[in-house]
Amino acid sequence: MIAFERDTSDPAFERIRGDAPLVVSMPHVGIGLPADIAGRLTPQAATLADTDWHLPLVYDFLAALGATVIVATQSRYVIDLNRPPDGSSLYPGMATTGLVPTETFRGEPVWRDAPPTDTQIAERRERWWRPYHDALSEELARLRTRHPRVVLWDAHSIASVLPRFFEGRLPDLNFGTASGASCDLELIHAVLDPVRAQQHYSWVLDGRYKGGHITRHHGRPQDGVHAIQLEMAQAIYMDESAPFALDPALSARLRPLLRACLHRALDWALKG
Ligand SMILES: [Zn+2]
Repeated sequence: MIAFERDTSDPAFERIRGDAPLVVSMPHVGIGLPADIAGRLTPQAATLADTDWHLPLVYDFLAALGATVIVATQSRYVIDLNRPPDGSSLYPGMATTGLVPTETFRGEPVWRDAPPTDTQIAERRERWWRPYHDALSEELARLRTRHPRVVLWDAHSIASVLPRFFEGRLPDLNFGTASGASCDLELIHAVLDPVRAQQHYSWVLDGRYKGGHITRHHGRPQDGVHAIQLEMAQAIYMDESAPFALDPALSARLRPLLRACLHRALDWALKG
């Protein structure tokens, strides 16, 4: 039996520790807003429409796999945990949102008045961004002392139609490996086996979404840490309009495929 410890000691994240060579990160599921920040949001931003809704419920099997799970508590409007700390663009030349977003995915303003200053952004980075990344580094290092290779799975979801970012409808499952730099090729092929074997969900590898800062920074195959980002179209498990309800039938249909992918990842890591 593996004992699971639910750690809520840092306000920036919740953590469940497991002993398997698998860490799952959920940087955009938070809906928390410090009071001084909540009062500054426009009504459009206050719906938190750009949240990666319900991922802990969709991935409800992780603790049973022995995975370590790190889940953000705060909204991405406080600070985006999947952006570089210096605020540089993830996708130069293409539309993207920044370290502290000024526009929603639909192009509406996030802030009622002036956007946060550089000093305020630096404060948010120390209070919310850094502890999340420190926890990721700490768990990956802890598991590397027990296993020669560890998989980091960065879990995301996004509305399926967002003309500001992409044409038409996003594929259902968007796997990202920083164009092959963030993990061993054998790992991504193992993960894609069950995806290739099904017909229901469309998918792409290193398409529009190739992995954000978490995948690119923490994924270091040469050091035994292999990172994959999965960006899912929200339409495959929930209602994309407010109040953004989970669809139990759709999520029940999706869950076995996700579990199969994570199982493959774990099997690959344990084989090393
Ligand atoms: Zn996300």
